[in-house]
Amino acid sequence: MKRVYFFGDGRADGRAGMAEILGGKGANLAEMTRLGVPVPPGFTISTPVCAAYATGRGRLPPDVKRQALAALRRVERSMGARFGDPEAPLLVSVRSGARASMPGMLDTVLNLGLNDRSVRGLAARAGARFAYDSYRRFIQMYGDIVLGVPLERFESRLEQAKEVRGAALDTDLDAEILQTLVGEYLELVREHTGRRLPQDPLRQLWGAVGAVFRSWKNPRAATYRRLHGIPESWGTAVNVQAMVFGNMGDDCATGVAFTRDPSTGERVFFGEYLPNAQGEDVVAGLRTPQPLDRLAEEMPAAYRELVRIQARLERHYRDMQDIEFTIQQGRLWLLQTRTGKRTVQAAVRIAVDLARERRITRDEAVCRVDPASLEQLLHPALDPHAPRQVVARGLPASPGAAVGSVVFSADEAEARARTGEKVLLVRMETSPEDIHGMHAAQGILTARGGMTSHAAVVARGMGKCCVTGCGALEIDYAARCMRIGEHVVRDGDPLTVDGSSGEVILGRVPTVTPELGGAFTELMRWADRARRLRVRTNADTPQDAKVARQFGAEGIGLCRTEHMFFEPRRILAVREMILAADRAEREGALRKLLPIQRGDFAGIFRAMEGLPVTIRLLDPPLHEFLPHDGDEIRELARALGRDAAEVRAKVDAIREFNPMLGHRGCRLGISFPEIYRMQTRAIVEAACEVAESGVRVEPEIMIPLVSHVRELEVLRGHVEDEVREVLRGRRVRVRPRIGSMIEVPRAALTAGEIARFADFFSFGTNDLTQMGYALSRDDAGKFLGTYVEQGILEADPFVSIDEAGIGELVRIGVEQGRATRPELQVGICGEHGGDPRSVRFCARLGLDYVSCSPFRVPVARLAAAQAALLGEGPA
Ligand code: ADP
Ligand code: MG
Ligand code: MG
Repeated sequence: MKRVYFFGDGRADGRAGMAEILGGKGANLAEMTRLGVPVPPGFTISTPVCAAYATGRGRLPPDVKRQALAALRRVERSMGARFGDPEAPLLVSVRSGARASMPGMLDTVLNLGLNDRSVRGLAARAGARFAYDSYRRFIQMYGDIVLGVPLERFESRLEQAKEVRGAALDTDLDAEILQTLVGEYLELVREHTGRRLPQDPLRQLWGAVGAVFRSWKNPRAATYRRLHGIPESWGTAVNVQAMVFGNMGDDCATGVAFTRDPSTGERVFFGEYLPNAQGEDVVAGLRTPQPLDRLAEEMPAAYRELVRIQARLERHYRDMQDIEFTIQQGRLWLLQTRTGKRTVQAAVRIAVDLARERRITRDEAVCRVDPASLEQLLHPALDPHAPRQVVARGLPASPGAAVGSVVFSADEAEARARTGEKVLLVRMETSPEDIHGMHAAQGILTARGGMTSHAAVVARGMGKCCVTGCGALEIDYAARCMRIGEHVVRDGDPLTVDGSSGEVILGRVPTVTPELGGAFTELMRWADRARRLRVRTNADTPQDAKVARQFGAEGIGLCRTEHMFFEPRRILAVREMILAADRAEREGALRKLLPIQRGDFAGIFRAMEGLPVTIRLLDPPLHEFLPHDGDEIRELARALGRDAAEVRAKVDAIREFNPMLGHRGCRLGISFPEIYRMQTRAIVEAACEVAESGVRVEPEIMIPLVSHVRELEVLRGHVEDEVREVLRGRRVRVRPRIGSMIEVPRAALTAGEIARFADFFSFGTNDLTQMGYALSRDDAGKFLGTYVEQGILEADPFVSIDEAGIGELVRIGVEQGRATRPELQVGICGEHGGDPRSVRFCARLGLDYVSCSPFRVPVARLAAAQAALLGEGPA
């Protein structure tokens, strides 16, 4: 079987499409060779050998050795030098190279083939300084990677040598010192391994090949694979390649370059190099590299060729390339090319520019940008150049960065923010009562809670930075301070949180607002043309609605009415309504709330002019609106003119053991129809009022937590009665659509019946996951991390929809609902609406829209476009 692939002299056994068996590096070395780009000859041992090596307990299969030796002979012929020749030895590098790029995780050995004899031959032909510099590099790399001699031992010798000679840089060391150093290095190897450094070049070669295969399993690589979802079964390839030397003198150099600026995406050739050096020096940062402009002055001919080749490579690969090159005595060699990593800004700009330059199509440009990364573009970020002292890490619940003085209560946050202070709200966890403080704060940090905890969901909705589940915080509300490890942070102290990484940082770190250039707008325009799935937003205030519209929202898919209840001047009326002794009292309180709600809705209708707005009627359990501690209860009793004991008894009576499965959602509507009727009246009156002023409105009334068709039937009746009453005698008539949330598994399974009374379905996938998976939204964070780490679950099901289980409930619901009512409008309004993978799933199911928090609207638009372009739409 073919295990070894030669490349050299313009011919190659492999090519770019073969990364699976040649690794990225090997495949691209072959491709460059075919293109006629100057690449030192060599060969690639294929990735399946990595596994064979491991099962063979560290022995290379004999046929692999045979094929490698044959390829080595071809390299010798091509270079006109022999491996192990004491006079003019061929030296090679032994390089790792996996299918996916794993920068710096795997090992590489350079200058292999040198020994005590051939180093002298090399010195005679190419200079003693160069020969001993190469040999000491080889001993160090081979010693470290193959023989396990600690790298620091070599480095401290090198430092000593420099100190003794007063040399600042290793290029200041002359041949004589390097020769002494080589002696010390060889001694170090013997001391540490009890043996001489292998002198036979072939033994060196097999040793290095084995070590590179073994490096696939080192802990660093294993961690990297886990973080990036790279399967262990892939294995790495090994590339053996003739050395070219950037360390032969002042007409030599080595460097790395990008065909475009990887941080801004600007179309400029960009890179760094070091004169008289070998490749790893550039990365190691021992000397400061110089910008490529200098190369244009110092070695103009080689530079011109480099510019020509980089342009050629980018044209050929149709994407920005990251290249490694070496110049040996004025002659340019390419050692690597790959698609370059880049920031989001650069990704957007490069994709759009390449399409404008007609290198790729617009559809390809749309598919080139990772949708999830777009969110970073919209929020302020920490200045990447500023120093930071990270003291803890939580979950990156809502991106962006926030800097402010620490406060431990929502009231405090609001009070201090009113004076113009920038504050950061720190809580054990948040509840709906904290909304005003969350609004006022720059960002939110909690000790508990997962990615869909209250704090996370609300913060994302507000587009506000939030870090949750930061277990290292020991908060003492009474003392108004917290410990984070050895640090104590008090009320008023400055703190920074990074919602994109989950980092908690002492002090103030400056932030930068990324620019949304024309490229972003252009890319989104192309995406919108490609997609079928519509994108709405979850927004509770006119302000959020406006932001979402700017980001391209095509309506509101979820407007939660209860968030409007928490403002101090409203909460009293809400409490009065809840604590009412009878219906008449309750209606009295509702009359106070009516104009307030009407005003809220009118504001939102105006902000969303002409677009559909889905308003969900009251959903949370009532106890969430009530005070719980004694002082607050007494105060409330006073405000309502009631007896404190009576109020406390009522509060206790309303409390539930399991409120999430309790008296909430449409169950409240069944118990207290007048609440839903008041809300319906507010919606329809607001809609008429706005329509009368000439603004088009499209209201949708959504009933939450339906589990049985009869609930919807009864409530629809109430809503329709109220609508009729409001419209009676009006000139302008706005008839809302009435629909159901599908968030209880039973509702999904009986969707065919429920659809009889629904104009639309909106899948509430947060609750559906909670109830269908029996996972608490607020507590599951504590152990789900372990599930994901151990690979039991691929992803947190609150972040990315569980397609096999919860997704199946959605599928059944859509199918049954549409069977009853073909024109049924179907969307989802859970947090999943902004998760690219879940959006693709929704596209496959043929949903009409997804709805997500404002800052994720562009994410969903792009993901929906990619789903359509990659053929993931409904059949
Ligand atoms: P990594 O994947 O960690 O970048 P590489 O295999 O690319 O490792 O090699 C490390 C450095 O050594 C790079 O700068 C590379 O350009 C240089 N290098 C590798 N092989 C050769 C060679 N045959 N001649 C000269 N330099 C080389
Ligand atoms: Mg490299
Ligand atoms: Mg719900």
